[in-house]
Amino acid sequence: MLIFKHISDLQNYLSKQRLNSKTIGFVPTMGALHKGHLYLLQKSKAEQDISVCSIFVNPTQFNQKTDLKAYPRTIEQDIYLLEKEGNDVLFMPDENEMYPKGQLPKIDFDFAGLDKDMEGSHRPGHFNGVVMVLHRFLNIIQPNAIYMGQKDFQQYLITDKLAKDFHPKTKVRMVQTVREADGLAMSSRNLRLSEKGRAVSKNLYAALKSFSEKMHSVPVDDLKNSIIKSLNEHPDIEVEYLELANAENMQLLENVEKESKKVVCIAANVEGVRLIDNLIIP
Ligand code: AMP
Repeated sequence: MLIFKHISDLQNYLSKQRLNSKTIGFVPTMGALHKGHLYLLQKSKAEQDISVCSIFVNPTQFNQKTDLKAYPRTIEQDIYLLEKEGNDVLFMPDENEMYPKGQLPKIDFDFAGLDKDMEGSHRPGHFNGVVMVLHRFLNIIQPNAIYMGQKDFQQYLITDKLAKDFHPKTKVRMVQTVREADGLAMSSRNLRLSEKGRAVSKNLYAALKSFSEKMHSVPVDDLKNSIIKSLNEHPDIEVEYLELANAENMQLLENVEKESKKVVCIAANVEGVRLIDNLIIP
């Protein structure tokens, strides 16, 4: 696997590949890799000639300094896993490479309301940081496709609009969430949970499933309240939100719209570790 830390080296390599008509798949990550990330990579490898994975813990998307500091970093293990998976290129720039002299890329992006609720309202500035870093990466790499996990569904939809508006040659592929055997969505943040916290976290996925099973017979608000109440009864769980939204525009739904594709999303703190998950309901 080739490892690049500098944009110019990566671009030199990629332009040669393009001259040889090779297609490029891009998997952006913040490291502490797990099977979810590797699944994105497998999709890219299956569809593209060359796969580029990036590891960059992007400071502009963290709205809390403590969260940024506590974010797990396991670079040696990450390199080992990427090599084993047969990844072609790892791009691991530092902050100065991505944001020279601390200058943040400017982009006049219209979120069209995709950022209004859930992660947008609970993590102010988060999606501005995400858009900033992805816009920069897409300008640098110009991939044929970027691979995004369903686990961050709102982020996927925003990336899809970003690509349509500014990077029309890049397709955005959504890849299904990879879960632990008990249903917990794999996440780098799971590393910060104690054994007890890890065990209790399975209730988030169970809550989403229960919501999707009961939403046709119980009013949405009553269902939300009762599920949040029972989750909060676990001393280690504190729910931030549980919402049903239209899966195309992320508008919150108070009633089940039969005709539209929906997504039920949850965010909760478990032992102070912020976890998110969602289920798409066709
Ligand atoms: P992160 O390193 O958390 O920023 O995630 C990098 C990419 O991996 C994002 O597109 C995530 O949505 C995706 N991802 C994270 N966890 C999972 C998972 N359990 N299954 C599938 N994709 C995931």
